[in-house]
Amino acid sequence: MSFTVAQAKANMHGMYGNYNGAINNAKDAAYRNAVYAFRARKGLPPSRYFNDACISASIAEVKELQTLLTRAGFSVGASGIDGRFGLTDGGDTGAAVAAYQASRGLRVDKVAGTQTMGALRAGQAAGSKPVVPIPAMQTGANIDFSKYPNFKIEEFACRGGWCCDGSLYLLNEAIVAVAQHIRSHFGRPLIITKVGGVRCQALNRVTYGAIANSKHTQGKAIDFYVQGVGVGSVLAYCRELQKQGIVSYCYTNNTNMRGAVHAEI
Ligand SMILES: [Zn+2]
Ligand SMILES: [Zn+2]
Repeated sequence: MSFTVAQAKANMHGMYGNYNGAINNAKDAAYRNAVYAFRARKGLPPSRYFNDACISASIAEVKELQTLLTRAGFSVGASGIDGRFGLTDGGDTGAAVAAYQASRGLRVDKVAGTQTMGALRAGQAAGSKPVVPIPAMQTGANIDFSKYPNFKIEEFACRGGWCCDGSLYLLNEAIVAVAQHIRSHFGRPLIITKVGGVRCQALNRVTYGAIANSKHTQGKAIDFYVQGVGVGSVLAYCRELQKQGIVSYCYTNNTNMRGAVHAEI
């Protein structure tokens, strides 16, 4: 088995935060201390070495996490259930942990600790479906975007340019949570179209195909693509979210949507 020091550090950080430092290949003091802590947690004899027994134990626990996340509806990315946190900020597995934590109202730190693992295991035992987000939804400037690590609030702004200053006070957090949910599921960037975020009334009136008072004017809808994912797959997943009550309505068409999907809450 081959495991770089950086990989050991990434895994020991992502599980229970046994390591908290830079992800690199230096066998520094923080790394040595983390190895002791990891071995103690796994019931392995004390040693400074991250040997094959450690590698196996580490891969096994990250695979369990990735399996639980996937079953709960949170994609761990293209590399799948491989027993490895990404080396850059936890990668897609870290992002999935963050999205899951946000969805359950847990502290969002990308570290699967006692609470996160407990919630994931309990969720699986109960056979519960993914539930989204919804503890105390906020609007506009009050939305805590640290819960939505793949997005910036500007991406949701009214971007007519001539019509308003972005009208972000209208933005409803629940649609941000939907965007994060879809983004985490596919593990790919979600791109909101130019007129696909909040729309002030002035922009909505001149948007081709828009109905009066569309959900966009209430900050409760997005039109978007998922980079590298076909519109059919995106729409199918939105319909799943609709069945779960997370999305209230979604559609696409070829006349004015050009392959983007509209989802609203
Ligand atoms: Zn506007
Ligand atoms: Zn729309």
